[in-house]
Amino acid sequence: MSEQESLSFTGGCYCGELRYKASGTVLFKALCHCEYCQIFSGGMAALLIGMPADGFYYSQGEAKKSINQYGDSPSYRSFCPNCGTHIYAASDMSPGVVSIKVGSMDDRSLYGGPNMALQCQDRQPYHFVDPELPCHDQWPWTE
Ligand SMILES: [Zn+2]
Ligand SMILES: [Zn+2]
Repeated sequence: MSEQESLSFTGGCYCGELRYKASGTVLFKALCHCEYCQIFSGGMAALLIGMPADGFYYSQGEAKKSINQYGDSPSYRSFCPNCGTHIYAASDMSPGVVSIKVGSMDDRSLYGGPNMALQCQDRQPYHFVDPELPCHDQWPWTE
């Protein structure tokens, strides 16, 4: 992650009630295997794009929050109260960052692909990870 990539994109939930805009420096592109991502994704890891929280806002709709306790740090997920789509996760472990679900982006081709795998301690044998990707047991910022 040496070169700094900046992106500006829009997205929203499945039903269209929530719309957002995100812009700024891309902080990470990750494939997260934590147990919550597995629950919310349907069993696989989730694709996330880390963006600055101050460059993110909802342009339409009112999101709800659910709180997860992950280790010592609570995290929460921002989702659509109508269709349930999860838009992003955020954690006290990484203040100022929103981990946006790539599936919510209008143009998912902007993502390009993950450059690291996270929470690999929760990985299942059927979770394929490109051997080229660095695999971190937890969040690399707390290891
Ligand atoms: Zn919705
Ligand atoms: Zn996760």
